[in-house]
Amino acid sequence: MSLVDELRAIVGSGHVLTAPADTAPYLTDWRKRYTGTAQAVVRPAETVQVAAVVRACGAARAPMVPQGGNTGLVGGGTPDAGGQAVVISLQRMNRVRAIDSANDTVTVEAGCVLQRVQDVAREHRRLFPLSLAAEGSATIGGNIATNAGGTQVLRYGNARELVLGLEVVLPSGAVWDGLRGLRKDNTGYDLKQLFIGAEGTLGVITAAALKLFPLPAAQITAFVAVPSLAAAVSLLDRARNAAGPALTAFEVMSDKCLERLARELPQVRLPLPVGQRWFGLVELSDHESEAHAAQVLETLLGAAFEAGEATDAVVARSIAEARSMWAVRESIPEAHARSGGNVKHDIALPVSAIPQFVAETDARLAARFPWIQPSTFGHLGDGNLHYNMGTRDGVPISMAFEHEAEINRVVYDAVAARGGSISAEHGLGQLKRVSIRDYKPAVELQTMRAIKDALDPLGLMNPGKVL
Ligand SMILES: Cc1cc2nc3c(=O)[nH]c(=O)nc-3n(C[C@H](O)[C@H](O)[C@H](O)COP(=O)(O)OP(=O)(O)OC[C@H]3O[C@@H](n4cnc5c(N)ncnc54)[C@H](O)[C@@H]3O)c2cc1C
Repeated sequence: MSLVDELRAIVGSGHVLTAPADTAPYLTDWRKRYTGTAQAVVRPAETVQVAAVVRACGAARAPMVPQGGNTGLVGGGTPDAGGQAVVISLQRMNRVRAIDSANDTVTVEAGCVLQRVQDVAREHRRLFPLSLAAEGSATIGGNIATNAGGTQVLRYGNARELVLGLEVVLPSGAVWDGLRGLRKDNTGYDLKQLFIGAEGTLGVITAAALKLFPLPAAQITAFVAVPSLAAAVSLLDRARNAAGPALTAFEVMSDKCLERLARELPQVRLPLPVGQRWFGLVELSDHESEAHAAQVLETLLGAAFEAGEATDAVVARSIAEARSMWAVRESIPEAHARSGGNVKHDIALPVSAIPQFVAETDARLAARFPWIQPSTFGHLGDGNLHYNMGTRDGVPISMAFEHEAEINRVVYDAVAARGGSISAEHGLGQLKRVSIRDYKPAVELQTMRAIKDALDPLGLMNPGKVL
């Protein structure tokens, strides 16, 4: 029996896609940078089916590519051009298995879309805080496999900190049931940590036990113009001191980002006019009341104006206004994509190092590439910048892509010199798997390789990614 026939026998022929029109959406990544080929896309509905699929692929020596919502930004979920791969889509595994309010946990299958997990938590008067612009399509399995960050990391941590247990199909086809909803479990190696952020290279995540939190009584959002990045860092410090754990988001956007947004997506309303400055999006989540939240924010902004850290601000007076402020921040990737993309750098630095990094690296890049146009935004509260390079008006974006390797070198050397990371939240995938060799200690890479070889000796689980 051919592998495709075997897969049909496992999941039913309707869930093994082989026609090009059916497989196409699974073979190109969100940014349309990578397109691969596959002998089939298989859509299992249960863990036992995933295990049988993995065993069949292993026996046929077929590479496997786990995939969730296909919103990843580094080509991690796209197969190579060899044509032998099987894409394992988890989208049909989208059940909520259990919710335990007293334990503050929810157990969901890997294909659950992130927004659905948030909604289910809210229906039980709980918060699942992971939040990112792709939450309407990204799956919890993909979030965990990429250790996704997003907008609430400064308060709740990234995906890693929200996972209590996992169920994983190993490359051997064995099922590891580690779905423990425990906050304490010191019984040896914490295996789940291996699969979080592994980008599907060590196994297929099929379910997760996740942490829930109390729903805040009120949320308040402000859009603030700041004269410089240094002022934004001072404002962040002030906000932390004023609001403590109530500070749940602190995002920044450059003026150039918003200009691009206004051009590409004019329907997105900008709360403040663009000019030569930076903008912050500040959110407080208050467990007392709306009035208390408003008072903390007003005091914070008053002090920020006095200190010269803010030059203008709008406070959302309704949920709709807050949503429209968030739409500004969350539409930036879409605006970049519409205008032909840019050379992206998802980097992490100590927050204190960010203003100097941006000033010096902007200047170094401009000296070497006079046509370059930075379009920077990011999660300032976590020290995570999307330090993206486009081109000035009238210069084709292809110019930036032609010089991508040189641009990357300038940026990553500057990041490394300050003890930063060349991938803060998107992962390595195909995009950075070679670059990382220049920036991670050899002993760390060798240890990663040893773990990969121990779990996946045939190298069939998402090959060509990460390592
Ligand atoms: C507009 C936009 C905004 C974004 N904003 C953010 C952001 O703020 N923060 C952030 O961190 N990311 C962000 N991303 C990136 C992306 O949404 C995340 O990486 C997300 O976690 C990927 O989920 P997914 O289900 O789409 O995974 P996919 O794209 O399908 O896969 C991503 C990786 O995970 C692996 N994988 C997927 N499912 C499984 C599984 N069940 N088991 C094992 N491996 C698996 C894949 O093989 C691949 O390597 C954004 C993307 C877009 C398009």
